[in-house]
Amino acid sequence: MAVKIFLNEDEMPRQWYNLAADLPSPMQPPMGPDGPVPPEAWGSIFPMNLVEQEYSTERWIDIPEEILEILYRWRPAPLKRAVYLEKMLDTPAKIYYKDESVSPAGSHKPNTAVAQVWYNKQAGTKMITTETGAGQWGSALSFACSIIGIPCKVFMVRISFDQKPFRKTMMQTWGGKCIASPSMETNAGRGFLEKYPDTPGSLGMAISEAVEAAASDPSGTTKYSLGSVLNHVLLHQTIIGLEAKKQLAKAGIRKPDIVIGCAGGGSNFAGLAFPFIQDKINGDDITIIPVEPTSCPTLTRGLFSYDFGDTACTTPLLAMHTLGHSFVPAPIHAGGLRYHGMAPLVSQTVVEGLAEPVAVPQLECYEAAVKWARSEGTIIAPETSHAVAVTIREALKAKEEGKEKVILFNLSGHGHMDLLGYAKYFDGELKDYALPQEEIEKAESELAGLPPAAISKTGKW
Ligand SMILES: *Cc1c(COP(=O)(O)O)cnc(C)c1O
Repeated sequence: MAVKIFLNEDEMPRQWYNLAADLPSPMQPPMGPDGPVPPEAWGSIFPMNLVEQEYSTERWIDIPEEILEILYRWRPAPLKRAVYLEKMLDTPAKIYYKDESVSPAGSHKPNTAVAQVWYNKQAGTKMITTETGAGQWGSALSFACSIIGIPCKVFMVRISFDQKPFRKTMMQTWGGKCIASPSMETNAGRGFLEKYPDTPGSLGMAISEAVEAAASDPSGTTKYSLGSVLNHVLLHQTIIGLEAKKQLAKAGIRKPDIVIGCAGGGSNFAGLAFPFIQDKINGDDITIIPVEPTSCPTLTRGLFSYDFGDTACTTPLLAMHTLGHSFVPAPIHAGGLRYHGMAPLVSQTVVEGLAEPVAVPQLECYEAAVKWARSEGTIIAPETSHAVAVTIREALKAKEEGKEKVILFNLSGHGHMDLLGYAKYFDGELKDYALPQEEIEKAESELAGLPPAAISKTGKW
């Protein structure tokens, strides 16, 4: 029996898959104060070749050869069968997973970091800015910038900067400049510091700093880069699902019954699931599950509305599931899942009924991560543990039903930099947290002043 299924370099997908071409109900455009935002309006912060991908409705987009050559460092990523977990659970289900933890930065994020930096290089960008919360995106971007040769500046949320010094060291090792945010480098940062001198910072503040640092460069050659949410980011991640399809075929499996991914901004979920959503649109029976924390239940309890991507309300409005742009999530350890919004493409698959989101409490996720470590062996990221928790739920359901279901999930990253969360779990310091209803009501009133998003669906799923 094959436990690890590999592809050769020449079997790697040569095109990314763009779900926007096949969505049965159309996406809604980003909105500004004067109506739909035209592509050119993004030009001050993104290079136009990436803006073109953002707006594209072409089904297949060629992956440039030079990007493939960089990805060969770890791709094609292995598809593995979790036979040891299957045995522990005594389930008839077959559990497969894509192992994205094998990338240099330890998660799926380098898949888009490499592509974004490469397109920036083509467009003549001389400096890239970004923000990072827990540090995963900042390290992925620093890696890509070092390989391709563009300096990068990462605004890291102050509290993580202090608590996670090794992420900063990873960025430094790849030549990235990591600055605690709020900083004295931008007007926004100086403003935040004047108002709240002891602030721990937030992703919202860091985004404002990184965007300002790019937009205010008079030469126009500093650009900003985002690690999730936007269409072009999800596009670059589809290489995960496209590889998985080829690998399942090698294992003699025509289609999975269930596809699972954790969802923060939506990129690793989309990367695995979108190629299977295409099959679902074309008639296959596949259950597709994005998983989020009960403390940040964007898809399961949030509103589908136009909302800002950042707390300072500087980005265009996106039609997405959201908890409101001023939402401050509880300090759970799955840092990458603490975002108020969701990728508009992922949100539309949920509106359409093609994906069925589930929220899981924190303790069940850590229990799942420990079961995983004690069967499969690896220590996974707290974000990833959300996908494993639902995989375990589904495997046990298959056992009850006596069905030999094929479950496929995305192992989005390892947890070697997240051991503080594990330590707190073992010390009994973590608890479950469900978002109080008042928070949803607060979001409702915050969103009431923004344009409504149309809920359009075919009713087929
Ligand atoms: C960033 C991150 C996530 C969440 O981001 P998505 O865009 O939703 O994929 C999940 N897992 C890991 C390991 C991450 O680093």
